[in-house]
Amino acid sequence: MKLITILGATGSIGVNTLDVIARHPDSYRVLALSGHTRLDLLAAQCLAHQPRYAVVGTAEAAATLKAKLSGLPTEVLYGTEALAQIAALPEVDTVMAAIVGAAGLQPALAAVRAGKRVLLANKEALVMAGELFMHEVQANGAILLPVDSEHNAIYQSLPAGYAGNLADVGVAKLLLTASGGPFRTLPLEALEFVTPEQACAHPNWVMGKKISVDSATMMNKGLEVIEARWLFNASAQQIEVVIHPQSVIHSLVQYVDGSVLAQLGNPDMRTPIAHALAYPERIAAGVAPLDLFAIGRLDFHAPDQARFPCLGLAYQALEQGGNAPAVLNAANEIAVASFLEGRLPYRRIADVIAATLDTIAPTVAADLNAVMLADAVARDAATKIVGHWGS
Ligand code: NAD
Ligand code: MG
Repeated sequence: MKLITILGATGSIGVNTLDVIARHPDSYRVLALSGHTRLDLLAAQCLAHQPRYAVVGTAEAAATLKAKLSGLPTEVLYGTEALAQIAALPEVDTVMAAIVGAAGLQPALAAVRAGKRVLLANKEALVMAGELFMHEVQANGAILLPVDSEHNAIYQSLPAGYAGNLADVGVAKLLLTASGGPFRTLPLEALEFVTPEQACAHPNWVMGKKISVDSATMMNKGLEVIEARWLFNASAQQIEVVIHPQSVIHSLVQYVDGSVLAQLGNPDMRTPIAHALAYPERIAAGVAPLDLFAIGRLDFHAPDQARFPCLGLAYQALEQGGNAPAVLNAANEIAVASFLEGRLPYRRIADVIAATLDTIAPTVAADLNAVMLADAVARDAATKIVGHWGS
């Protein structure tokens, strides 16, 4: 019986994780859950899974949740410290890190520092602090398993026990697939007027709003390039993005002998979640079997830089190094939130990120404080830039 903490239980990844766990009650038990705003859902999850702890953001939210849970033994906690606490509980075997954005970094790091098996959905943690994060994984004997579908596919397509040197195992390139999102074929002029609702209507995946907008701009793929850089110790030149609209091939590994290994499946996050939960074993995930005859064909295109400038900005930040990826991430979070609130036109998202990167002098990612400072400075700068350009 494995005991699990789910950080971000009320999100899209969190809900899918609970779905997989509920299929295997003899193998997994939920010890702690966290949520932020959807307190009714968190209360329902607590009723169904009876965790020992539930964590929310504020004292007020904690009081509201407590009232909803009267009679349950679940202890309700709140705040960042409490997130780190449930990530590092001695009894916990596995932590699902599924908080969205920079808010997920410190709790995920707490799980790593406690030497847990960490299932990482929160890609922003690696974008902001990849070097430090991977160092802590090594230093604390944590086991890091990627949940992001592309990275999970690459993990499955690399030799088992891959130790961090691509050349040693004959790998030439990692090929990250991208669907191209909802605006892949929209006339460029029409991008001027797209709404948050259109941007969130992803053709293949149902996800949280932030990652849905990131998928439309392809910043999601940019963040994933940086994520792959750290997870697999790959250089920017070893990571190539391939648009594959069907989202059936989740990513590929190209070897020096010409072999290309890939992982395929229906676009359903329960597959990578189940893989990471059970690794190296396999468990049923509730995902329908892939029907190749129904799919019929698989297409591939090179990404169009004019349509997806965010992808180039992510490579730029990766090349700059230091805290540039943390700045990129923070500026993106501000720009996306502003777009979702109707204060920034879609096409300005990339402009805000580019201007923020230009404004902030490069700094070294010496430690977590340096990363958090870069994050804060970039948020301020991006907020001011949105103020100039927003409506
Ligand atoms: P979501 O918006 O559906 O859920 C986010 C979760 O984080 C919720 O539980 C929310 O309560 C919590 N949260 C939000 N702000 C918080 C804060 N300030 N403090 C504490 N908790 C907070 O997002 P999602 O789509 O589930 O994505 C979660 C993470 O997984 C993201 O980093 C995303 O990039 C990554 N990811 C998601 C998918 C997907 O299919 N949804 C796929 C790959 C990777
Ligand atoms: Mg992904």
